[in-house]
Amino acid sequence: MLDADFFRRWMTTAAASVDREAGRLTALDSAIGDADHGSNLQRGFTAVAAALAKEAPDTPGAVLTLAGRQLISTVGGASGPLYGTLLRRTGKALGDAAEVGEEQLAAALREGVDGVMKLGGAAPGDKTMIDALVPAVDALGSGFAAARTAAEEGARATTPLQARKGRASYLGERSVGHQDPGATSSALLIAALADTAEADGE
Ligand SMILES: [Mg+2]
Repeated sequence: MLDADFFRRWMTTAAASVDREAGRLTALDSAIGDADHGSNLQRGFTAVAAALAKEAPDTPGAVLTLAGRQLISTVGGASGPLYGTLLRRTGKALGDAAEVGEEQLAAALREGVDGVMKLGGAAPGDKTMIDALVPAVDALGSGFAAARTAAEEGARATTPLQARKGRASYLGERSVGHQDPGATSSALLIAALADTAEADGE
């Protein structure tokens, strides 16, 4: 079972990973966006880690809800509301249980991803974070490592796509040949989840 501490470690692992990869995310966003994805998410996840250290929410749902709120209030552009919605919806779906199982997490994460699709109007294949998140949620039933692989493959598979949503869509055909920064950061978030589970021997 996964408790609040597991979810706190997932978020702090994600914060460390975003911090490490911020340069790469910004480089990807400079090719097909406005070169701020790395610094935006870095600021957001730094705020998430600080808030979690200060408030120490005691259920998995409360951890993700607080993290989502932080992202919405600190990350500019579209990423803040999209990532914030992902975590808040997932947290809400987990309710106030002290511990949740992997199946519950998979179902809750699917609600979170549905919320992102609704908010952003993106579907799979539009070259967005959805292209990493949907395969990850689909694979989560087979375990955390499978979800990580699916998210990374999904992110890589955005390279030949033409963007149909978000700022990259303004580039039309020129968006082809670049990996999507949002799908890349989404894969980092799922990899952080898998790392946290592996550290626990899950
Ligand atoms: Mg940007």
